[in-house]
Amino acid sequence: MREARRLLSLAVGSPPAGLGPADRVPPCVGRRYRTLLAERGRRVPFALIEGETGFLDFDLAVGPGVFIPRPETEELAERAVAILRSLPPRPLALDLGTGSGALALALARARPDLSVIAVDVSPRALACARKNVRVHGLERRVEVRRSNWFSRVSERFHLIVANPPYVARPELPSLDPEVRRYEPRRALDGGPDGLTAIRAILARAPQHLVAGGTLLIEIGDGQGGEVLRFARGVPSLVETRVDRDLRGRERFFSGRCG
Ligand code: GLN
Repeated sequence: MREARRLLSLAVGSPPAGLGPADRVPPCVGRRYRTLLAERGRRVPFALIEGETGFLDFDLAVGPGVFIPRPETEELAERAVAILRSLPPRPLALDLGTGSGALALALARARPDLSVIAVDVSPRALACARKNVRVHGLERRVEVRRSNWFSRVSERFHLIVANPPYVARPELPSLDPEVRRYEPRRALDGGPDGLTAIRAILARAPQHLVAGGTLLIEIGDGQGGEVLRFARGVPSLVETRVDRDLRGRERFFSGRCG
């Protein structure tokens, strides 16, 4: 119902508050509304129809081929922002697989002396992230760079964040149609057990962290044990832990460069 009302306001081109139950709409709006409803009926994600989504307290453009930020990643962002508070002046952060730029922007907005490098391998994600960085006027502090994880990253960071693909390949067919049909597989497919990207990031992160720097990554429920086991075998990665999200699911891995 809420979505239908918002689709109607999209068709009308006015904010939802501007529509009352007694309002009549011209036929062209009715046609446009039916088109939008049909799209949603084909399970096109609402955010893709709108072309944007909310993340924390700001809006982000999204588009075809770009992963749509999820509420659990807002929790990751809040944890990352809390870490930022303890960093020295002019710190540097890395967002690995930035997609729309959600995490990079959340970090840059939270601390005015922070610089962020936001990398992704997908040209569509890079274009989307660049657009969002521009819209938020953060070009001077957020660099969007094409890189396959760390392949074109040589800096060391105080904080590295990532929401990597972590869905186990056999589970991809059971994702919601919105996700399965319209979101980039590359942002979701974590290989046979879901941990391919997570392992690659864990193995190389210490080389890209300053001493005491933090790595914070989103993981899937049920992956905590295996992620910790792997992380504990990575030299220089200390204080490894897994925390749960607000719904009680294992969701956040963190570790520090010791
Ligand atoms: N939580 C995501 C989902 O909707 C998965 C995200 C990811 O692989 N990073 O399925």
